[in-house]
Amino acid sequence: MNIRSIMSAGVVTLLAIPALAQQNKMRPEETEVWEPEPRVVITSADKAPSDAIVLFDGTSLDQWVSEKDGSSPAEWEVADGAFTVVRGKGGIRTKQEFTDYQLHVEWRTPTEIVGEGQGRGNSGIFMQGLYEVQVLDSYNNRTYSNGQAGSIYKQRIPLVNATKAPGEWQTYDIIWTAPRFNADGILTSKARVTVLHNGVLVQNNVELDGPTEYIGIPKYKAHGAGPIALQDHGNPVSFRNIWIRPL
Ligand code: MG
Repeated sequence: MNIRSIMSAGVVTLLAIPALAQQNKMRPEETEVWEPEPRVVITSADKAPSDAIVLFDGTSLDQWVSEKDGSSPAEWEVADGAFTVVRGKGGIRTKQEFTDYQLHVEWRTPTEIVGEGQGRGNSGIFMQGLYEVQVLDSYNNRTYSNGQAGSIYKQRIPLVNATKAPGEWQTYDIIWTAPRFNADGILTSKARVTVLHNGVLVQNNVELDGPTEYIGIPKYKAHGAGPIALQDHGNPVSFRNIWIRPL
């Protein structure tokens, strides 16, 4: 060791001792943060959290309209606390529009298996009316991986396949962060999404490339808040217990 390194080692030691002494002198209260206090949310099994907006309570689609024509009612069939796609009626969407949120949706593909691949129990949940979280009967039903249940359609493959058998109710819990655009309409941050399928993580805060495209490469275009939209893909998929917590 030369004189220089001995001196610099000594300086480090001299500096470290007071820092350690300071740390030891701190009281536990000095690292407690009391404000703000998180507000209380009441929860119970099978019920929306107390601060959620209930988008379907099992009885009526009056918070939904036709996707094509917002002045026409949603004409899907409501029965037994759920509603079901009516082939040919087209997609439906919420009257309300949202930006960032936590969304809970329960869905069920038909017990009677009809079709295969993308033709079996296909629907979809569109964030801001543009970005599809795929709904599909992916129980023993192979299709392209970025088009199966839990995928961000044609963009992100789910981490695992957590699909239940046809006829069983399934859950999606989706945390959505909208894309951001500046005043000139230039993208400043991409959309991000986390999806739990039947309580299992299938999308972990993934970035999206743009709105969902069936053919071609997605590309962002500036937009503001948008509805939750559900797809009519011609299969009688059912939904129930839908709620949202804007963030
Ligand atoms: Mg679909």
